[in-house]
Amino acid sequence: AAVAVAFGAQAQGYPSKDKTVTIVVPFAAGGPTDRVARDLAEALRKPLGGVSVVIDNAAGAGSTIGTAKVARANPDGYTLLLNHIGMATMPALYRKLPFSVPNDFEYLGMVNDVPMTLIARPTMPANNYKELATWIDQNKGKINLGHAGLGAASHLCGLLFQSALKVEMTPVPYKGTAPAITDLIGGQIDLLCDQTTNTTSQIEAKKVKAYAVTTDKRLTTPSLKDLPTLAESGLKDFQVTIWHGLYAPKGTPADVLKKINDALKVALKDPDFIKKQEGLGAVVAADQRIEPAEHKKFVQAEIDKWGPIIKAAGTYAD
Ligand code: ASP
Repeated sequence: AAVAVAFGAQAQGYPSKDKTVTIVVPFAAGGPTDRVARDLAEALRKPLGGVSVVIDNAAGAGSTIGTAKVARANPDGYTLLLNHIGMATMPALYRKLPFSVPNDFEYLGMVNDVPMTLIARPTMPANNYKELATWIDQNKGKINLGHAGLGAASHLCGLLFQSALKVEMTPVPYKGTAPAITDLIGGQIDLLCDQTTNTTSQIEAKKVKAYAVTTDKRLTTPSLKDLPTLAESGLKDFQVTIWHGLYAPKGTPADVLKKINDALKVALKDPDFIKKQEGLGAVVAADQRIEPAEHKKFVQAEIDKWGPIIKAAGTYAD
């Protein structure tokens, strides 16, 4: 009988209907990373056999808190991490991290690429990028720039922007860009660089002023298509796109990882997910990018790419 029970338990396998799969989002609820994760959770539910998939916003310190939480979590497939380019910038920004990006995670595949937008408080007098550049020049020393902590995409974008303009701004860190954009709308901060998964609806509603996109080409999303790129606005070579990936704690069993990866492949083809993401300017990952080995290779290449850029922009790093 003992054998039968053990066998039964194993045959039940992953994911168990009595359990919940938690995706840790290392930023505040209602922000751009949270948006991607919630859409993904919905798309994953069916391919994961109808199990419930919930979000845990373990926000703060530029995503290091939530990322550390997953590194320490039980490697059973019930705790996953959705994080972005921060996986590649944190190693250069922190002297000491409580986890190793290459060694403490199982890589489950990339999820999408998201452009960023440079936006300002609604009362900003500038009406286009050129006027904004003039305003920045005239207000040096008095400009507040919001970001979601060292390691956040908004931090990286702000760092590159200050470095390109050679203007130092006062950083105002938040637990995510959801609270940052609230303060931007309220006029407590001047500028924010944030993913379109957060800014598109605010730009559409004209709650913020938008000046440029950070991609190398203009976007096709209707409400964003008239925004120039920063590169064409005079910041030569300015280009940053925010990729997201899905991770599990190191040591998660191979058969569980395979099931999650298979489910991810189905989720990323879900027409509803694709439509929602494309409406927010994002491009959903496909083909090789959803392969764990490719994902891991890509993150390492990004660590190697951003490390020197962050070091060179050093004085603007916090
Ligand atoms: N993704 C945002 C950033 O990196 C933070 C957030 O999701 O709230 O700035």
